Amino acid sequence: MSGRRKPDWLKMRPPSGRRFTDIKQTLRDRDLHTVCEEANCPNMGECWSGTDGPGTATFMLMGDRCSRGCNFCDVQTGGMEPLDPDEPANVAAAVAEIGLDYVVLTSVDRDDLPDQGASHFAETIREIKRRDPSILVEVLIPDFQGDEDAVREIIDAEPDVIAHNIETVERLQWPVRDRRANYEQTLSVLEQVKRDSDIYTKTSVMLGLGEYDHEIYRTLSDLREADVDVVTLGQYLQPSRSHLDVFEYVHPDAFETWRRVAEEELDFLYCASGPMVRSSYKAGELFVDAVVR
Ligand code: SF4
Ligand code: SF4
Repeated sequence: MSGRRKPDWLKMRPPSGRRFTDIKQTLRDRDLHTVCEEANCPNMGECWSGTDGPGTATFMLMGDRCSRGCNFCDVQTGGMEPLDPDEPANVAAAVAEIGLDYVVLTSVDRDDLPDQGASHFAETIREIKRRDPSILVEVLIPDFQGDEDAVREIIDAEPDVIAHNIETVERLQWPVRDRRANYEQTLSVLEQVKRDSDIYTKTSVMLGLGEYDHEIYRTLSDLREADVDVVTLGQYLQPSRSHLDVFEYVHPDAFETWRRVAEEELDFLYCASGPMVRSSYKAGELFVDAVVR
């Protein structure tokens, strides 16, 4: 379906405005990367300005090269650089300067590092909280190859939300994700967070990859079984012709139906579901609405 025209509901509005340009400048000055920009995310205008609540931005830690190669993801594989020891402090300073109330931290996978980057992740959380304990921090973490000590290190840094994405239904884990990732491992990372702490957990599923409805339902049920609090559902979009084809463009009504199933039948704390929703979509506003208010 790669050559087919996108439906109208996927047309993007380019972000603009004073706040948008100010944030961009701060990021350039500090040589920091956000997923928002790298992925040219269509939600930048909404997320960064936080129209109805806290603004959200997603910082990408540990470089822009990944040790894995997922077939849906545009990040380059291989050629990872040593970690920048100043990055945790730099991110914390940028968060303060921009005036964000809710920060999402994510990273490439760094299977090449002895602790897979867990301590660098944890240090960044601590730096942000040290500067301002009122800032809410969500981390979207790798699976750390199932290393419970690495997950424990993240828990000990006390973020407010720990997210780890299951990405797709069990049958499609491969070819969608790198072969080192899998369904069971993802569920067990999410389970460990709940077993070892009372931190909120969150995950994300892409639709439009050829999954059946019963598989989506089963995935949502398995996630609830693992006590996951929040789920987001969004449309898979092909980053380039060398990535997986889009199987279908899922209609917005179907996303709304899944939102109701997740919230009303399966009792997730909340579910953000829509064609343009990404795992960190308006994360601050939605979290504050559901948990803090
Ligand atoms: Fe992209 Fe994450 Fe897969 Fe790396 S592990 S290729 S960053 S989705
Ligand atoms: Fe950034 Fe996530 Fe919002 Fe996209 S959805 S703009 S990546 S915070």
